[in-house]
Amino acid sequence: MRQFLEIKDRHPDAIVFFRLGDFYEMFFEDAVVAAGLLDLTLTTRDKGKVDAVPMCGVPHHAARGYVAKLTDLGHKVVICEQVEDPKLAKGLVRRDVVRIVTPGVVVDEDALDPKAGRYVAALVCGVAPAPPSPARTGRHAAPAAEPRPTPAPPRWGLAYLDVTTGEFRATELASAAAAVDELARVAPREVIVAAADLEPDGAAAPGAPIRRFAAVWGAAPVPDLDDARALLAAALAEPLADLATARPLLVRAAAAVLAYARATQPSGSLPIARLVAYEPSATMVLDEAAIANLELVATLVGGQRTCSLLEVLYETATAPGARLLRRWLLYPLTDLGAIGARADAVTDLYAAGELRRELRQQLRTTSDLERLAGKATLGVAGPRDLGRLRDTLIALPALATLAAPAPRLDGAPALNDLRTVATPALAALASRLDAALVEQPAALVKDGGFIRPGHDPEIDECRGLADGGKDAIAAIEERERARTGIASLKVRYNRVFGYYIEITKSQLARVPDDYLRKQTIAGGERYVTRELAELEAKVLAAQDTLAAREAELHRALVAEVAAAYQALLAAGAAIATLDVCVALADVAERRGWHRPTVDAGAIIDIKDGRHPVVEALVPAGTFVPNDARLDADREQVVLVTGPNMAGKSTFMRQVAHIVILAQVGSYVPAAAATIGVCDRVFTRVGATDNLARGDSTFMVEMRETAAILAHATRRSLVVLDEVGRGTSTFDGVSIAWAVVEYLHDAVGARTLFATHYHELVAMADDRPRVHNVSALVREQGGEVAFLRRIVPGAASRSYGIDVARLAGLPRSVIGRAREILGRLEGDGGALPSGRRLAARPPGQLSLLSDGPPAPRADPREAEALARLRALDLDRTTPIAALTALAELRALIS
Ligand code: ADP
Repeated sequence: MRQFLEIKDRHPDAIVFFRLGDFYEMFFEDAVVAAGLLDLTLTTRDKGKVDAVPMCGVPHHAARGYVAKLTDLGHKVVICEQVEDPKLAKGLVRRDVVRIVTPGVVVDEDALDPKAGRYVAALVCGVAPAPPSPARTGRHAAPAAEPRPTPAPPRWGLAYLDVTTGEFRATELASAAAAVDELARVAPREVIVAAADLEPDGAAAPGAPIRRFAAVWGAAPVPDLDDARALLAAALAEPLADLATARPLLVRAAAAVLAYARATQPSGSLPIARLVAYEPSATMVLDEAAIANLELVATLVGGQRTCSLLEVLYETATAPGARLLRRWLLYPLTDLGAIGARADAVTDLYAAGELRRELRQQLRTTSDLERLAGKATLGVAGPRDLGRLRDTLIALPALATLAAPAPRLDGAPALNDLRTVATPALAALASRLDAALVEQPAALVKDGGFIRPGHDPEIDECRGLADGGKDAIAAIEERERARTGIASLKVRYNRVFGYYIEITKSQLARVPDDYLRKQTIAGGERYVTRELAELEAKVLAAQDTLAAREAELHRALVAEVAAAYQALLAAGAAIATLDVCVALADVAERRGWHRPTVDAGAIIDIKDGRHPVVEALVPAGTFVPNDARLDADREQVVLVTGPNMAGKSTFMRQVAHIVILAQVGSYVPAAAATIGVCDRVFTRVGATDNLARGDSTFMVEMRETAAILAHATRRSLVVLDEVGRGTSTFDGVSIAWAVVEYLHDAVGARTLFATHYHELVAMADDRPRVHNVSALVREQGGEVAFLRRIVPGAASRSYGIDVARLAGLPRSVIGRAREILGRLEGDGGALPSGRRLAARPPGQLSLLSDGPPAPRADPREAEALARLRALDLDRTTPIAALTALAELRALIS
């Protein structure tokens, strides 16, 4: 208990798994918490006492699952093992912490998603020099002068680390909002931050918005710049150069996360070679809203990976490839050369046809070199891991040869050359592993038998002895049967007595005198002999030596692998790159995608574009392709009108997807596309409520819109869906109008703007770069059919009532709605209530105003209509629709 309390003292915020024999036990509060979460029975050793210590335990062989569950629930687990051999220990066996498992620092492969990095991040807030900001050029007019705060706002250093692969990146961000956006891309499981940086009243006060981003927030001290510099310099292969001066917050965050991760591995080191310092503005910026709204990696509703754009692309054959693909998708490039290099590689592989399929087969057989190298460095690689690593290394040269017909995979500096990473050193490592290990090594060292016969004389000798012992035992059994005449005589083994002879009751009379009785059992007696005891000693000694020697050789092999981890990570990265390019080529061929032209121009021109996800969901061949054209100099703002369900959102999202895919270096779902490179894609789609943030729908909508207007440039792509919908018609239409004006007059960003405010279409008349397109519907015999074709020009009318009819509103309500609409459109906009449409303001807005009472004013009908209009059919479940219908009917009958 003293040992436990000492360890608990050092880790008050963690659940301590304390090894006792074959169990990990938990005590006190830990036991209470764990028993509840893991569904374990809470017991105590000192039953009946008042201050009985609560405890619970899990068998050591099943501990991994329990640990994974606790960390998934946001707990830290401290693993304490016996660090002395109980046989050799004097008195109490010493125990110590061998590993700390936290939500962000997990090394158990079974608990990890092979397709995603497992990150722990650190955030540091402070005042630091801002980088020289690229001027926001190309605006058509200066925005109305807004007072800018003079004192430098606090900046944020963000660093994140995947201890299983050594991926280690850091950046600096200009605001808490930018930090939130970057956290959304990284999706760490755990974030550490100084408590003061998160205090709601602190100067930085990011509080809640940042907090959403990880299940776990550890408040840890952050090293100062000098300590940080020293720590990183010691850990990294490459010098920091002037990073510490230019990016002090980045450096401190990197040191903080590294120190934290190190502390979790007291007995292993981390596979870290390189700190990648990056600028978010060096690649396409995708903020939280864009990632979510465009469903890049998860669906908007439910947060599932299925039905995301990533899922469409997931044709990768390896885990490192899957992880790299995710990063490529979330960080599309803006550098034309780098985009072209990737697309060239994809093109070569696309053309490679049959060979590509062969490559894919080969890739499938490779193992996760990054995580295997990581495991070796962390000291947790088993014999089977080494075997997998060996097999992959052996396959490497063949893979490189196979990839040769895709020459442009190597040419570009951004891509890794498989041939240069398959170094002689790795080949030598592979042959050493191969010489030492059997074909299929066991998973665990204690299972033994993984060293190849003939590799180590000592092991061969021990095996000979152990095996010889077995032969000798068989011989003894034979001989004793003959000597005693007891045919059922058996030589057996158990852990308590070692080897013994068992004789059944009926034969006891024949037992010779030199047998020593050891134990009486139900069916007979057990004996030992001198000869057996001697033999046993020899066999056991041989087995012990064998196990120790195998473990020793294993440790040496692991150390050798660990020493090569940088080369292994490079090889893993090269395999990942090849895999992603093969996957992109596969997707392109399978789905009929084409290579886009990405240039520095101001145009986005898409021929026969398709939505990659929706196309896969609708019956084959039924997706309707659409052209799209945006041009910062001409068709800069494209207003998309048309009824609900006509395909507006799909159209706009597919344009954004095509732009993103093009800048990833992928082919795109279109017959042809020219993409003038975008620095950022903004979206504001639908009225999703963000309850987690505690904001109203409208607040979220306006905040996202504000961010767009503040940060969009002429190089950006802006996709806005139904802005202003979350408030009253008056406010909504006014806001939508002003937003379009601002985007047109001040920002100049290429913009797709879907609206159900038909008033806006008139903007095309006096704003030169505003264009109208609409989603075509066909009316036939009073029926409305959605053609999903986007055509030039504004929608002639909104078809809201038609959609309401399709949704099943009663005929009388539909009839009445048509009547009222007719009156609104026909005679000066009179409503049944007596209110009427006002004279049109300068922008031809149709607004409601009070007027003389209309003849058949019925306030209940007006109320019914108002409610009908307010119904958001996109978000109404069938039950809610029926309920609403019943209420409407009650109101008018
Ligand atoms: P809106 O934004 O106009 O309300 P959506 O874009 O949400 O309409 O489209 C509604 C549904 O129509 C989609 O879920 C999809 O199933 C289908 N759809 C949209 N565009 C197309 C298309 N081009 N081809 C085929 N089906 C489409």
